Amino acid sequence: MDTPPHEAAASAARQEAARLTAKDIHGIALTWVDNAGITRMKAVPTARLAHAAQWGVGMSPVFDVYLSDDSAVTSRHIGGPDGDLRLFPDLDRLTVLAAQPGWAWAPADRHEQDGTPYAACQRLFARRMTDRAAQAGLELRMGYETEWVVTHAAGRAGEQAAGNGSRTEEGAPRYAGPGPAYGMTRVVALSDYVRDVLQALAAQGIDVLQIHPEYSPGQFEVSTAAAGPVTAADHTVLVRETIRAVSAHHGLHATFAPLVEPGTVGNGAHLHLSLWRDGANLFRGGDGPFGMTGPGEAFLAGILHELPALLAITAPHPAGYLRLTPSRWAGAFQCWGPENREAALRFIPGPARDAGSANAEIKCVDATANPYLTAGAVIAAGLNGIERKHTLPDPVSGDPAVTGADVPRLPTSLPEALDRLRGSELLRDALGEPLYEAFLAVREGEHARTQHDSPEAVVSGLRHRY
Ligand code: GLU
Ligand code: MG
Repeated sequence: MDTPPHEAAASAARQEAARLTAKDIHGIALTWVDNAGITRMKAVPTARLAHAAQWGVGMSPVFDVYLSDDSAVTSRHIGGPDGDLRLFPDLDRLTVLAAQPGWAWAPADRHEQDGTPYAACQRLFARRMTDRAAQAGLELRMGYETEWVVTHAAGRAGEQAAGNGSRTEEGAPRYAGPGPAYGMTRVVALSDYVRDVLQALAAQGIDVLQIHPEYSPGQFEVSTAAAGPVTAADHTVLVRETIRAVSAHHGLHATFAPLVEPGTVGNGAHLHLSLWRDGANLFRGGDGPFGMTGPGEAFLAGILHELPALLAITAPHPAGYLRLTPSRWAGAFQCWGPENREAALRFIPGPARDAGSANAEIKCVDATANPYLTAGAVIAAGLNGIERKHTLPDPVSGDPAVTGADVPRLPTSLPEALDRLRGSELLRDALGEPLYEAFLAVREGEHARTQHDSPEAVVSGLRHRY
């Protein structure tokens, strides 16, 4: 008789726990990302890992209606004090945390008490959409870019104000790392810090493609190798928490929030993706635009078509709309173009001799987005494009804000994006009602909570939350 799956997991976990104990690892952080885009966690001691793998760890579903300031709203299916779920660590992702001595980490899937998958689990949603693509013979490779701003850690008053979830404004951020965008000056000034980020990511098996100082003061960016959609989302969670931990070791504070100060260039969490069938990249070798194959073009056309509704998922906090303005390479226009950094959908043909390199970048994504929801929703939109045989409009070159080209702006506020999401049967069906309703309730809550705040208050409230 076959071993029941959770017993098999427990036996694998016992071996892992012995390995971790030998490495002096005491705690395993089990994380999942909620509808506010916050990475929440429960930890178990290493000795308890096998139990967690077999039975899961209890966690209230109420966090699916938590806002970024830890206040709660409610939705038709989820909300209130009742009920419990089980967090199951994904042992394939179990990672010793290089910047948190004594700790390991694993992302978790959420199941009901009876073992059935929890309908509102964002990670399982991403897996469902990945499987849906696989049923059509398609494979997605994805990678999130991570942009962040480093400041000198706040003084006591600032920490207290931000730490208890209050929206009291802090003092002006003190940027670490002077010097120009892409300037070596910033890397010389923060040489040990940047090295430690690289070292920690490498020790955790994260394949870094590149790292550089970005446009805004104190801003950096790291990009990591493409992986399957769920793994790509796991990686971005791990990358952010690693950067946060390394920053703390250096007396610095890292924020991934969409904007640190109004009127500046913000932090994106751009999503790169390519579509494959039988080992061939469908963005190459065809006779569509820039060598795309028919399904490659249709997949991107499906995403482009759905972008106004997708935006409610990829830029789900009001602060995102302060970032998402023209001429900041944030992707404010609903258009596509080869290597056009102002287009929300940038097509990257890649070097001629490297067929695997062609990919597309969705720029209108920020770190308040749940990366699992983003990945899953993008796949749903792309597959719909293939089903409906969508084609791409003409590519756009240049910055429409400068050229005056007649190109639609994406929604300019969260309520506008939410209206588009409410109008998207496609995304509602893909998410399923419990997840869809809880997600909408959270986004409406974030809007209600901040609608009378100044832009300064909206962004400063997030500096210590993302
Ligand atoms: N920081 C910009 C943003 O908000 C993106 C800059 C870039 O193209 O990397 O998305
Ligand atoms: Mg960048």
